Amino acid sequence: MTQGLWTALPAQALRHVATAQVESFEHYVLRMSEVTGLRRASLLKPTPIEAAHAAIPQQGLLQHVERAIGVMEHLTGQTDLRCGTLWAVSRALSLHGMCARNRPRRWCPVCYAEQERAEASESVAWSIRLLQTCPAHGCALVDRCRICGATQLDCDALVQRRQCRQCAASLGWRAGSAHLAQSALERWIDAQILAIVRYAADPQSAQLPPDAFHQTCRALRCIPERWARVPASVRSRLRTHTRRTLPPPVLEMLLEVAATQHCGVMALLTAPEAIVQTSLWPDATGGQDAGLRMPAIPLLRLRALLDHLLEEAPAAYLPPLASILSRLGMELAQARHAEPERVARYQWRCVRQGASARLRRLDIAVAQTLHSSALTSRLVPTPAQLAQLRQRLARHLALEDAAKVCTTAMELSHLPARG
Ligand SMILES: [Zn+2]
Ligand SMILES: [Zn+2]
Repeated sequence: MTQGLWTALPAQALRHVATAQVESFEHYVLRMSEVTGLRRASLLKPTPIEAAHAAIPQQGLLQHVERAIGVMEHLTGQTDLRCGTLWAVSRALSLHGMCARNRPRRWCPVCYAEQERAEASESVAWSIRLLQTCPAHGCALVDRCRICGATQLDCDALVQRRQCRQCAASLGWRAGSAHLAQSALERWIDAQILAIVRYAADPQSAQLPPDAFHQTCRALRCIPERWARVPASVRSRLRTHTRRTLPPPVLEMLLEVAATQHCGVMALLTAPEAIVQTSLWPDATGGQDAGLRMPAIPLLRLRALLDHLLEEAPAAYLPPLASILSRLGMELAQARHAEPERVARYQWRCVRQGASARLRRLDIAVAQTLHSSALTSRLVPTPAQLAQLRQRLARHLALEDAAKVCTTAMELSHLPARG
């Protein structure tokens, strides 16, 4: 921290830098807003042009966030505010679906209950939807008031942040660790996500290059038994685009490749030479509890897919569960056993989508869309390609349905091709 220097805004430090609990930049701005009396919007708000382009960042943070960090660092004399975002990994990892959209806020009830106002901090990790537990307390992160079930806004000011905006109940309460209730896969995913956050929270971390994933895939390609375990969608894209760099993967894809290679996600992005030294998963899948094992991969895919579709709905069409499971090579009983709550919720939402004749048409449209070049040639299609796809679909479908089909097909395109 710079001391004795005059700064335009108070030289307030970001909390818990270099730890997995690092305060989010958004929360930092809220604190600044409270201290200075300046409105959050005037400190953070994107210009109309930036808002129009803020759809899906292919690489890096949203433009207006980058700009806000730069301005805030300049005005406060701080040099590590970017540690409160995923800036350090934002070019190597497609953040689409992680922090890009203004989803209902998630929080740790124990953090809310225990923290004094003067030391309040909200972790950037909470915004990563795949993370289930608080990095400090290990209890489940929540996104609803436990009394009335209302969701809370991300932008609520500090003074009203710990009270439900609907029923005024406290949003902080005692909760035990959720780790025991988690499966080995869920614990592994949480640990991987925290490793990413810890890297981004460290001021010493360099920003990872956009081709980090590509470099790793090239290293894996030289070792046939490892390459065979990389998802087919990645392999075919590297084969057909030898001259082009693979685009940064979404978090689920990165987790999946790391799981197949029996290594951590950060090793995958920073030290491809080292991961080829680690041993692969043993093939034995005996009854002993060996924690996370290879067969967990289809489950990882199922979880990610159902979460995405449910989160996108009603802007996404929910295809019949049977057609998803057949693509994963999975039985319904197996899916129900592994993810009882998710599967039940999905099926419940599925049958409430409307008339079956219309759903049948959407089903066919999704199947056709999956063969379009926008979805077969890239890991993540560009916004322009998606717009084009939607236009083409709108010739045969209502505009709203075309958008739904597009969203659903994009989610399904991460699964291995059938047959
Ligand atoms: Zn907590
Ligand atoms: Zn409430």
